[in-house]
Formats: sequence, structure tokens, C-alpha cells
Amino acid sequence: MTIMLAHPFIWSGAFVATLCGIALLVWALFADRARGRRRCGKCWYPMDRATSLRCPECGHEAKSDRALYRTRRRRKWAAVSLLPLLLAAFLAVQPKVQRDGWGSVMPATVLILLLRLDDRQSVLDGIEYHLNETQGHPLMTLSWSVPMEDNLWQWQWRWLARSVLMRIEDEERGPRRTTYHSWLSLGAYAGGDAALRQTCMDALVRDLAHPDGNVRRSAAVLSIDYEDVENSIGRAVELLDHDDARTRVAGVMSLRLIAQRTRRGVPALIDALQHEDAAVRRQALWAIGATARSSGPVPEAFDPVYALEHDEDGDVRYQRIMTLADLLSGDEAWYTIDSALRHEDPHVRRGGLYAAYERHPRPSHVSVRLIELLDDPDATVRRHASGILEYIDDDVLMEQADLLKSLVSHDDPDVRRAAAVVWYRIRGAE
Ligand SMILES: [Zn+2]
Repeated sequence: MTIMLAHPFIWSGAFVATLCGIALLVWALFADRARGRRRCGKCWYPMDRATSLRCPECGHEAKSDRALYRTRRRRKWAAVSLLPLLLAAFLAVQPKVQRDGWGSVMPATVLILLLRLDDRQSVLDGIEYHLNETQGHPLMTLSWSVPMEDNLWQWQWRWLARSVLMRIEDEERGPRRTTYHSWLSLGAYAGGDAALRQTCMDALVRDLAHPDGNVRRSAAVLSIDYEDVENSIGRAVELLDHDDARTRVAGVMSLRLIAQRTRRGVPALIDALQHEDAAVRRQALWAIGATARSSGPVPEAFDPVYALEHDEDGDVRYQRIMTLADLLSGDEAWYTIDSALRHEDPHVRRGGLYAAYERHPRPSHVSVRLIELLDDPDATVRRHASGILEYIDDDVLMEQADLLKSLVSHDDPDVRRAAAVVWYRIRGAE
């Protein structure tokens, strides 16, 4: 249920309801004090003239004289006062409910247990909200992110993993299953229970054989067990021979994650450079480059990467240049890039272009060559060169003002547009 009201109405409504609730509660508990009168504590009959502690009306025997001076508490009315207070609470959470859903105002534990009984989307959304709670929190003016595992207690992670294990077997919907995958892997990791962890991992590994390709791909990445890297590598290598092209790529992606985190799996990536599927070769090249970028030199990969020089697939030749540049450093990398920018193969030129674009600072002769590629015979190279023109240092652009000016009237509209933008910018800077 969602009440669509403007926030001022909600807040004033909540305020009035709170005042009514508090007024009623105060009246019920404190309004009818004795004020010097003696009354029966049970039926409130006046006992000012009574001579004993026994009520002449109902026969109730007070324990002491003091008991006749008690304040009358109207318990039923006190209970009734909770209604406007509940209404106020209901209204007060509406802005948050409208923004983040009902799950955001329910405790995570309730939602985690509720999932066992009811797996409607709002329950999942509520759990998802709690897993990401710190992002966009109104009190967090700085957007630092708390690691996701800190958003639940360890026992909550275990409960969540168990709730998911109860649900996942019967779940037919692919997107829902991939959500469960991420919770299982987080629960396995953050739950701190070895047996539960193994059960979660087994469930994820089982989904590597799921008929839905999206489910397989999500399982491929999330079933990586960093405490059992050898078996994880074995499973990823098996995926490389899957019938489905995107599942094969997911296998390479898993190997890349393993290699980046553990430095193992690189030999399997090098083997994948020989795969008959060009997409696998390309991804393996990219993965080797990413490993070198994030976790240091991978010298054993250089020769196998270099050997793809005459690969039949243009995108492999393109990616080869990027990866070679990642595997080399300093002058060697720039030498490779510069040669690629002058290569007869447009795919190789394109590889050099992106390898140059990703690196700073850039030798000025390379920057000049990047500008010259705007006049390349190959339309794709021209388009990519146009796309990176504005990232070339201004001093080089100013030195090449004449060249840029001539490109402003180029036949290719992409080139004209990019050159014009930069041309007017440097002319304004002069
Ligand atoms: Zn009485």
C-alpha cells in the first residue's frame, strides 16, 4: 500500500496525530488525580465519609489509607491513544516507503525470515535495500561505501543464506535466481560457517549446468571458491568448451577474476589464446592484460600473446596490441604502440589508438600520430581517432593547429565534428 501525498501533508498529518495521541495518553493516565478526595481504588466511589478501608459500594478492601488517594488510570483509553500514535508512525515512514519501498522500513531480520514464507518481489527488494543500505542514506552526506558484508550481522548472513537455500531449488525465474546467487555467495563468504559455506558453494556450482545462460554466467563468476582455487580453475576451463558462446566467455571471465586475485589461472588463460572461438581468444587476451595491469608483470604471457600477430580475427589482432602494451612497460610499450599506429592493418592501428589513449603521459610524437589518424583511410579508425581527439594534450593540439584546421573540412562528418570542437577550443585558449 502506498499513499501518494506531498510530504508537507504527510508531516503535518503525522504531527497532528502525534499530538492527539500524546494528549489522550496524558489525559488517560494523569487527568483524574485524587486532589485530596478519598476514593475506592476499584469502583472510584467517594469514600470521604467512610470510616473503614472497605468500600460501601463494591466491598473492595483498600490495603492502606494511602491507597484511597490513588490517581485513576484509564487503561482502555491509554490503549486507544496508541491508535493515533501508530497512525503518526505510519504517516511518518511514508516518504521513505515511497522512495525505497516497504522493505526499507522493516528490519532486515524480519525480511530474511519472511523470505522463507513469501518470496514476492517487495520482500526481495527490501532485503536488497538493507544490503545496500548505506548508499544514499540521508544522513550520509559523504558517499563513502561500507562493504556490503558489513550491512548485516554474521548471523543474519547465515539466516539469509539458509532462506535462499530453501527458495532457490524451486525458483524458475532466471533473474530471481541470479539475485539469489549473489546472496548465496555473500552469505557463504560473510556467514562464518564452514558447513553452510560449502552448501552455498555446492548450490552455485550446480547452477553451472542450468539451462538458462544468464543463470550459468552468474553462477560461473559467483561459484569461484578462493579457498579451493584449483577446482575453481578446473570448472572455469570446462566452461570454455560449452556449447553456448556467452557461457564460454563467462569461463574466461572467471579465470580472469581468479588470476587477478590469486595470480593463479594465468596458464589456463594462456591456453585459451589457442581456443578455436575468437571471442574466447579475445577475452583471454583482455584478461591477461587486466591481470598485468592490476597485479603486476606476467612475463610468461608475452610470447603466446605476441604469436597471435596473424590471427584471422581482426578484433583479436586489435586486442593483442592493447595486451602487449599492458605486458610491456615504459619505452617498450610506447615503441609497440607507435609501431601499431603505423601498421598496415586497421585493426592493429585501432589497437594502438586505444592503448595510447589509455596511457599518460604520452610522448608527443604519439599524440601527433593520433591526430593524423583522423585522416586514416579506414572509417572505423577515423571514427575512433575522432572520439579520443579531445583527450590529447592542448600543447600538442596547438602545435598541430594547421593540421586540425584542414581536418575541419574533412569528408567524414565524424572527423569534421571532432576537429571543429577542438579547433575552436584551442583558438579560444590562444
Ligand atoms: Zn468500590
